[in-house]
Amino acid sequence: MKIPIEISARHIHLSEKDFEKLFGKNEKLIPLRKLSQPGEFASDKTVEIVNRNKKIANVRVLGPFRKNSQAEISLTDAYFLKLSPMPKIKVSGDLANTTKIIIKGEKSSIQIPCIIAKRHLHASIKEARQLKLKNNQKISVEVEGIRGITFHEIVVRISDNYRLALHLDTDEGNSAGIFGKTEGTLEL
Ligand SMILES: [Zn+2]
Repeated sequence: MKIPIEISARHIHLSEKDFEKLFGKNEKLIPLRKLSQPGEFASDKTVEIVNRNKKIANVRVLGPFRKNSQAEISLTDAYFLKLSPMPKIKVSGDLANTTKIIIKGEKSSIQIPCIIAKRHLHASIKEARQLKLKNNQKISVEVEGIRGITFHEIVVRISDNYRLALHLDTDEGNSAGIFGKTEGTLEL
């Protein structure tokens, strides 16, 4: 069974309250580009991640607003920023006991939790049924090619707001030599 693979670059999710602090009450989060998951979009806003004398500029803010703000970066980013302790590898939304980072917007800087996103598969209820997958199940997906690799410990996340896609971060994509649109094979 073929699984579409998408590489997630570092990005930020914001609560409406944190957005207002960073950009001001009169600003709007304007969609620039739709993402594969229904309703999700890359916005016109970016922030800078700062840690002492290290910074990463132009980090994209995704929409829509979420209940809690979070940053998702790669381990390479975390080493570059010299974060200590290192952010934890967690599923999106699980923000307990992870490192906080400073992000800088047009109006101010705030601290938000930062994670390294755990690799995960999005699937709608129908797709999950077809693939015989259960929510939170762990699966493996093989990627072929010159850097062929099998990713294990992929968490299945099922919702009718989702569409089938394996999400990896840039470190994982690079490790498998993935450029642009790729598919993997679900291993059962
Ligand atoms: Zn995802």
